[in-house]
Amino acid sequence: MRERVYRTEAVILRRSDFAEADRLLVIATPAGKRRVVAKGVRRTTSRIAGHIELFTHATLLLAVGRNLDIVTQSQVIDPFSRMRADIARLSCTYYAAEIYDTFTHDGDESRPLFRLLVDTLTALDQSANPDLVLRSYELRMLQIVGYRPHLHQCAVCGELLTAEADSFSPQLGGVLCPRDRHADRRSMALGGPAFRLLRYLQSQPLSAVDGLHLSAAVRSEVEGLLRAYLYHLLERDLKSVAFLQDVMRGE
Ligand SMILES: [Zn+2]
Repeated sequence: MRERVYRTEAVILRRSDFAEADRLLVIATPAGKRRVVAKGVRRTTSRIAGHIELFTHATLLLAVGRNLDIVTQSQVIDPFSRMRADIARLSCTYYAAEIYDTFTHDGDESRPLFRLLVDTLTALDQSANPDLVLRSYELRMLQIVGYRPHLHQCAVCGELLTAEADSFSPQLGGVLCPRDRHADRRSMALGGPAFRLLRYLQSQPLSAVDGLHLSAAVRSEVEGLLRAYLYHLLERDLKSVAFLQDVMRGE
């Protein structure tokens, strides 16, 4: 049997109003995604309210409820204040949270995915290159959930890829060698710098993006390739994509 009260680290992914003064929260935790209730937090007297803002990284104390567990205490670990004050960073965070939400099911335990989410939100709060943080996050997340794109061996024949490869296939799951470039009629052109950036992001830690100085063209090419791959896997665009594109274009 589960204990009646337990403590967990969490990121608030979604919130909605519930009953008279409560909120229903969807939270990411090391033990997976959960739905919980925070009671009375829409009242001005609530001591928990300030600790369960959207995307906050917090420690929660939860009581096991009959249906949903109940937040009884909350302590902020990181409020990501800089991200909150910057619409571009905030929209990147929406997108990162939506990806986590889309690729996970309630209760699927994944400590690596949770750590990746926290590291990504921390980087989105601080990095000079929030867009590249997202690209690195997409590649890392795809690896954890089992959809790592092929960037070193041809997605068709498995041969080691050289700098001559110039074709990316979302359908076939990665880069194609020159011989197999016509295996997918809808494959996308892949420029040398974009190919190198993809490989770099896949092999280097998240923090490595801070030192990168790249043209807008290469950034947007890599964004387009990964977006097409995610679109293929999900069979739809993520809701926050349009919002994110509007914000980035407005800068
Ligand atoms: Zn091949």
